[in-house]
Amino acid sequence: MAEAHPDIESILLSEEEIKEIVARMGKEITRDYADKNPLVIAVLRGAVVFMADVMRAITCPMSVDFMAVSSYADGVKSSGVVRIVKDLDTKIEGRNVLIVEDILDSGLTLSYLMRMLQSRNPASIEIAAFVVKDIEGKKPAVEPRYVGAHVPNAFVVGYGLDYAERYRNLPYLGILKPSVYE
Ligand code: 5GP
Ligand code: MG
Ligand code: MG
Repeated sequence: MAEAHPDIESILLSEEEIKEIVARMGKEITRDYADKNPLVIAVLRGAVVFMADVMRAITCPMSVDFMAVSSYADGVKSSGVVRIVKDLDTKIEGRNVLIVEDILDSGLTLSYLMRMLQSRNPASIEIAAFVVKDIEGKKPAVEPRYVGAHVPNAFVVGYGLDYAERYRNLPYLGILKPSVYE
């Protein structure tokens, strides 16, 4: 495996492990949406890398759209405030919507998004999360139908995930050294 970036404490998911996860999720989604022509929505910017990989692992007809929301700003803690920065270009009424997300932490961002999209009357709406953060005694506000992996309660970067817009280009998922943001 390639050397980790000096700001990375440890690698949680290697490129090879990510490939396997994505292939497995693509199969699950293809099986469930074979005749549903899903609209797969990625939440910018973190989910872009996962979206690019998982959409190529989905072998049934589908289309894509993108949304941008802002919840964490540049920091590492949730502000609890979600702002729509870019809305969908596609009408979702009657469509089978699948939201692709990079990471589910509190789930507050997605819970807000789900309610907002639900009001537009899609036929169905589900979530595919690349990783879910495990926090003892806490359940996320939404339950993803597809989960790539669970990660510990630490701040992770890479594979699309940033700290202050950095590290999105790392090909693996790793824990950021706390000294970088403390
Ligand atoms: P939630 O609303 O589920 O608490 O958090 C949603 C968003 O916060 C994620 O989509 C992601 O952008 C950001 N986030 C949460 N935990 C982490 C983390 O460990 N690392 C990074 N880079 N972003 C995170
Ligand atoms: Mg995100
Ligand atoms: Mg971010």
